Amino acid sequence: MYHDQRGLVAHAVHSQIDLHQAYGGVVPELASRDHVRRIVPLYRQVLADAGIVAADIDAVAYTAGPGLAGALLVGAAFAESVALALGRPAIPIHHLEGHLLSPLLSADPPAYPFVALLVSGGHTQLMRVSAVGEYEMLGETLDDAAGEAFDKTAKLLGLPYPGGPALAALAQQGTPGRVKLPRPMLNSGDLDFSFSGLKTAVLNAVNKGLDEAGRADLAAEFQEAVVDVLVGKSLAALRQTRLKQLVVAGGVGANRRLRERLDLELAQRKGRVFYPELALCTDNGAMIAFAGAQRLAAGLAHPADAHEIAVRPRWPLDTL
Ligand code: ATP
Ligand code: FE
Repeated sequence: MYHDQRGLVAHAVHSQIDLHQAYGGVVPELASRDHVRRIVPLYRQVLADAGIVAADIDAVAYTAGPGLAGALLVGAAFAESVALALGRPAIPIHHLEGHLLSPLLSADPPAYPFVALLVSGGHTQLMRVSAVGEYEMLGETLDDAAGEAFDKTAKLLGLPYPGGPALAALAQQGTPGRVKLPRPMLNSGDLDFSFSGLKTAVLNAVNKGLDEAGRADLAAEFQEAVVDVLVGKSLAALRQTRLKQLVVAGGVGANRRLRERLDLELAQRKGRVFYPELALCTDNGAMIAFAGAQRLAAGLAHPADAHEIAVRPRWPLDTL
């Protein structure tokens, strides 16, 4: 829950990691059924934590896409219903806009305009952000997302789901460079990415047979390769746009090696890099509430006609 003067007044996440872990990835049907079970208790919890009653709510923001239709529909139906009951607007929000604006929730937020590197489980994009709702796509992945590459590579190395944090932990015990992996598209001259070849290179290395130390070295080299590409392209995007501020959003933004490298490179260029609070890097409702408040304040909220329940499983951000 976000208050335009008091900021974030309550924040809760129900993680489904345990639910999906046994399957090694998200099972859509289980996800939406669990949403149905959890959404009302979670709503009551944040109301209590914020110390308010439902009638105090001015508007209800919810994720309308992109994502799994079943899970989106649960949120949309609930949010539109609460809004209808309260006689307030419901504001459909693009999930990635939530990620993109999440660093603005920190104590020392960036000012517009900035370059945003969005690195999540499903997306890898560089955008120029000029204002709320003004997003220009500079480049994106042609195949796998960075988080997806982390997850798939972790699986190849026999690590548990979700793979990103597990792979990063293993990488800490290894040394990059002992095994050699490519830096796909680092010098392609554009701001696009490709990560599927990296995964294949890891598979080849795994198939040759690896001992414990070899696994850690491979994890370290994989992480270094992804970080090299993300850092290289982010710096290129800053050069191209002549901007000095970089915002990193999405789950891969929690990666410590990525942060270390970006902090260093930006400091050398008298620029600055901004991250969301660690708890707001991966999916959360706070960023959606915040995006809704920003849109409402900017006159850019578009409530659905008659609280119609509609979601967009596919929805390009730069069409907002
Ligand atoms: P999208 O927002 O594109 O729909 P998503 O919501 O599933 O995807 P996020 O919740 O933003 O994605 O991020 C999850 C991803 O972040 C996973 O792929 C996960 O492996 C990765 N991730 C989380 N922590 C780390 C880390 N420390 N290092 C690398 N990757 C990480
Ligand atoms: Fe997400």
